[in-house]
Amino acid sequence: MAVALVAGLVTAPTWASGAGVHAVRYLMGTWCDLVIFEPQSREDVTEPVFQEMARLEHVLSSWDASSEVSQLNARAGHGPQTVSDDLANVVEESRSMCGITGGAFDVTVAPLLRAWGFLSDSPATPDADVSRDAQSHVGCDRVTVQHGAKSVTVADGSSLDFGGIGKGYAVDRALAVLRARGVTRAKVDFGSSSLGFLGHIEGGWPVVIVDPLDRATPLVTFRVTDGSVSTSSQRERYFISDGHRYGHIFDPRLGRPVESRLLSVTVIASRGSSADALSTGLFVMGATDGKRLIAQMPDVSAVFVEHGDSGLVISTAGKLTGLTRLSH
Ligand code: ADP
Ligand code: MG
Repeated sequence: MAVALVAGLVTAPTWASGAGVHAVRYLMGTWCDLVIFEPQSREDVTEPVFQEMARLEHVLSSWDASSEVSQLNARAGHGPQTVSDDLANVVEESRSMCGITGGAFDVTVAPLLRAWGFLSDSPATPDADVSRDAQSHVGCDRVTVQHGAKSVTVADGSSLDFGGIGKGYAVDRALAVLRARGVTRAKVDFGSSSLGFLGHIEGGWPVVIVDPLDRATPLVTFRVTDGSVSTSSQRERYFISDGHRYGHIFDPRLGRPVESRLLSVTVIASRGSSADALSTGLFVMGATDGKRLIAQMPDVSAVFVEHGDSGLVISTAGKLTGLTRLSH
């Protein structure tokens, strides 16, 4: 919950006048909040959006034993498997992000997530041999996609988890459904970690990043034109053992949860899937390497919140419009 939209803080915005449509649905283990600023529309456009997202949950969720990815994982080591367009798209983008981030974002982390209990309700530190075995099945090259043939091959012993990209992809699809139905101005807030904006508002959509240690405290605000915003942090899902806090974002190269001074990374990109994958990947890479990467990516920007020696340190990469510090 490190990002918030503050439509309510804008004084009498013309785009929020009149009766918009607001709907909320529980999907992919979190709440999806949809606002359509389209007072003239009488047709219910929220239902097709939620149906599309529910359909994607059944494609991408590791928590659903009958989802397409769960079935694909069960066929690991059995050669190329025919998959849907959505699964092929997500695997393709995931592989590309794995390369771009030098293996920091890697959907083959699933065996590590399982070994550490993050695919259950009771995470715990695994025995060293279990962890080592899991890590031996992790790597960008453990999954390949044959898009023309719409098939994906997962290496024996490996499996995929789209927890770091699925919500962003679903936001992209939600915006596509809205666009196809003639909606020109809307926002999708998926679990506060993936936001998508359709259309323009004067000055840009206001977004606030809150203190990951105290979500009641806003840290910075900025504006985005249409596009997506995604935030990753270890404060969402974690367990504490021997005085260590272990979160759900893993360093695939070390085979363990990331432990660093970084508290959250927010990425602004044109597509939700890229913003989502990059926020997870940059969290693994850390602020220094992350900024170097963003510098090579036009149209992508990021905000890093770190523990400093005397309080929080906030830094940015890329162009951000209307960036204003609110506290600290
Ligand atoms: P959120 O769940 O709040 O959207 P993220 O987008 O950062 O957070 O995704 C974290 C999820 O991504 C984890 O719960 C796990 O499913 C998966 N994951 C963890 N580490 C990695 C990694 N290094 N690369 C890709 N996916 C990861
Ligand atoms: Mg992510």
